[in-house]
Amino acid sequence: MNIMPVKNVYPCFLAKSNTLHYTHSMQLRNFSLSILFTLTLCLFPQADEEGNSNAYNYSADGITCTYSAEVEFPLNLHFELSAESDADINDIRLHYTVEQDSFAEVVSEVFIEFLPGTAVDVQWTWDMRRTGGLPPGTVVEYWWTVEDTDGDDITTAPAMLQYNDDRYLWQSITEDKVTVYWYQGARSFAEEIMSAAQLALSRLAEDTGAYPRKEVSLYIYASSQELLGAMIFPQEWTGGAAYTRHGVIVIGINPGNLAWGKGAIAHELAHLIVHQMVFNPYNQIPTWLSEGLAMYNEGEMGATFIAYLEKGIRDDNLISVRSLASPFSAYADRSYLSYAQSYSLVEFLIDGYGQAKMLELLNTFSRGSSYDGALETVYGFDMEGLDSLWRTEIKQKYPVGTATTSLP
Ligand SMILES: [Zn+2]
Repeated sequence: MNIMPVKNVYPCFLAKSNTLHYTHSMQLRNFSLSILFTLTLCLFPQADEEGNSNAYNYSADGITCTYSAEVEFPLNLHFELSAESDADINDIRLHYTVEQDSFAEVVSEVFIEFLPGTAVDVQWTWDMRRTGGLPPGTVVEYWWTVEDTDGDDITTAPAMLQYNDDRYLWQSITEDKVTVYWYQGARSFAEEIMSAAQLALSRLAEDTGAYPRKEVSLYIYASSQELLGAMIFPQEWTGGAAYTRHGVIVIGINPGNLAWGKGAIAHELAHLIVHQMVFNPYNQIPTWLSEGLAMYNEGEMGATFIAYLEKGIRDDNLISVRSLASPFSAYADRSYLSYAQSYSLVEFLIDGYGQAKMLELLNTFSRGSSYDGALETVYGFDMEGLDSLWRTEIKQKYPVGTATTSLP
């Protein structure tokens, strides 16, 4: 079975920066846990004649194969195979699968075009510009099938590779489930990022009961420019991205924008952890909940967002909770208001009904519940009910005529 690459792109503001960014939820290929069991078989490739230490050898039924792969981050992944047999080799296929959250194993199969012969060299390049990129550290498993005219048909041993960004010399520190990778700055810089990440996780657990189910990797690029160089077709204002299915966050932080970076990490971590919690084959969570939790995890709502919220109330121009369940408007004004309302809705639910209810809501969503169904089960009101209760409350909280902040 093959699934076409699906890319969900959720635009997110990072409240403590003027920079917009996108959160990418990449679901390129699925992954089977079975590869864990083949790990020890294939992690130790032998060097080939050219000294290529990535090369694997495999022989069976009179067919001999040498194969390797080379990462050219972030654009390409090159695969090569040399095969020999007594009879003409007439069918070669490459198979690969990517490690990520999924519900079914999906293996991609590539038919290789070549001239049949008793000794053949073939190669194939996975061009990430055609499929969307993979985050650094992604594990890819691949193997080949080779057939000759005698009817011999072999499947090589699987090989593993890590799609690493080897353009930089990464260092890492790990605490609990979080690993921070960085290449510029002292260890104290990475430690400061780690404390921010741990603090953000504690805050998220305190507010929602959500905690990391799996490992999370934070790749800290030294600038937004270098971050952009690690992504496929990034928007020029991208400040960071969360690959939720891979458990990876990439972000551009240096000592000069560390304060912004801490907020961005809190935001993206909330996206990842909430994704891990609610991931199910049936349904996602509404956008206002996902973005609202991410913003709420950063801390207080920023002045700009408050100003948009006050203007929305004043102009009687607020967006319905039902509309906010879908991806947000691309227009800046509506987008700011969407994020501000999302924050406010999450604040309304957490402050008014508590952490246990929010945890129950996330657990209900993890069972694939509908938006209305989950709200009704946990709070006793649907999206319209939430809309009306929330509007009553914020009109008291931000009475018309008392706006204290102005729009930029
Ligand atoms: Zn976001």
